[in-house]
Amino acid sequence: MANDQFGKKVQTQSNKEVFFISDFSNLDIKKVVITDVIILDYSNKEGCRGFLNQIRSSFVESIYLTPVFILSINEDVDSFTKSLTDGTVHSLQEEAFIGPFQAIEQRIRQLQSTNNQDQEIKILNKILRYYYTRQSRMKPIISAKSHTGYSFPLLSLHYQNVNTEEKFSILDKLVSKEFLRPRYEDLVHLCNNCYSGFLNYREVCPKCSTSDLYTENLIHHFVCANVAPESDFINGDQMVCNKCNRMLRHIGVDYDKPSLIYTCNNCGHHFQESVMQALCMSCESVHNVDSLLERKIYNYELTALGEESAIGGLVPSEKQDAEMAGFIGFSTFNIFLKYEIERIKNSGKTSSAGSLSLRTPAALSNSLGVKYNTVVTEVAEFIKNATLATDILTFINSNTFLIISPDNDKFRLESLLNNIRHSVQKLIDSNIDEANIMVKIKAENIDSTKNHNDLINSLLTNNGAG
Ligand SMILES: [Zn+2]
Ligand SMILES: [Zn+2]
Ligand SMILES: [Zn+2]
Repeated sequence: MANDQFGKKVQTQSNKEVFFISDFSNLDIKKVVITDVIILDYSNKEGCRGFLNQIRSSFVESIYLTPVFILSINEDVDSFTKSLTDGTVHSLQEEAFIGPFQAIEQRIRQLQSTNNQDQEIKILNKILRYYYTRQSRMKPIISAKSHTGYSFPLLSLHYQNVNTEEKFSILDKLVSKEFLRPRYEDLVHLCNNCYSGFLNYREVCPKCSTSDLYTENLIHHFVCANVAPESDFINGDQMVCNKCNRMLRHIGVDYDKPSLIYTCNNCGHHFQESVMQALCMSCESVHNVDSLLERKIYNYELTALGEESAIGGLVPSEKQDAEMAGFIGFSTFNIFLKYEIERIKNSGKTSSAGSLSLRTPAALSNSLGVKYNTVVTEVAEFIKNATLATDILTFINSNTFLIISPDNDKFRLESLLNNIRHSVQKLIDSNIDEANIMVKIKAENIDSTKNHNDLINSLLTNNGAG
């Protein structure tokens, strides 16, 4: 049956475009764009998962960010599906989803449009924007289908098991750029050839490497000091020493069992120290356990910088650096800031750091397009000229400027930033009609009480001073 309808429209008080889908045949993914909320019927699990994966694996923002709920009356929703949806509902009543829907919708409206062709940046942007609009942590789930045993569902839609290394490197990149803050979950051991965590650990013979071993106790007979495998002492239902012919009666009194002895069923070798090996059940390679990869598994939350980046959208860093002469990249800025914190500790001098942000409604920056970039470049130019040659400047996400001002305290920096703020506000208002762009500033002393991360977080959050 052809299904050119897109599910059933759910009547709501708020007049939102809410669609309930229970027939998953011939659905047109493009129609997701016109919906506000989609509710999928979990009684058809396969169909539900398939369509959900299609939505979340899209690179079109108005598709992959769409709030999706699962209708499940009695059943528990599997963890993969759960982590890609915005909640499970038991009825189609609006009260069941309106709260989370509104929170997500309000955050989606803050996002500024980006236009990137670079595949990796698209994925980085997607991760930041998805978790920003959901206000949730990116958590791994335990999954036997995942190569490593852990899966990050949103990422796994873009990376196959063979790309595990790339998947890890995306996560590490987001952490090293300080967009995500990791929290430890587990440690996994992985095959160093294919990253699989499906490993068979076993003890093998040090001579011929077979795992076909026979183990028995070693017996130490106290009176004659004979040490031999237990089987050498067995004589019917008694134990007799083959060296001194005495009977062994009481463990701890006549004899003890100091350790195990291995015998290889393949080559006959006797040994006390076996070798531990792991056979990879995915690529069939064999490894000594100390050559396995150790990988820490984390869950992640967006930092203040991550949230800024989600809103502004990432651009390739070469482009960003080239655009702004006199500004350094954010990672270099971080190094300067760490260095400045150390210098202050040792010298007892006072330095400060500050921020200046343009609070631009997304709709405005989107409608201005290139013109907005021109204005931002002018603002950057102005800031560069208004600050001291010794000040260190960086610029992030088309909206926020950060400054380190060595040997200036926060009050001097604040008053400097305030002057800049007034001029920048004038500049904007004279360039853009009904600009509605707020310029916010904040300054803090650099001291040993805050590390560079905390300091940057503090400068980026609530910089409502001004
Ligand atoms: Zn052997
Ligand atoms: Zn003996
Ligand atoms: Zn392997």
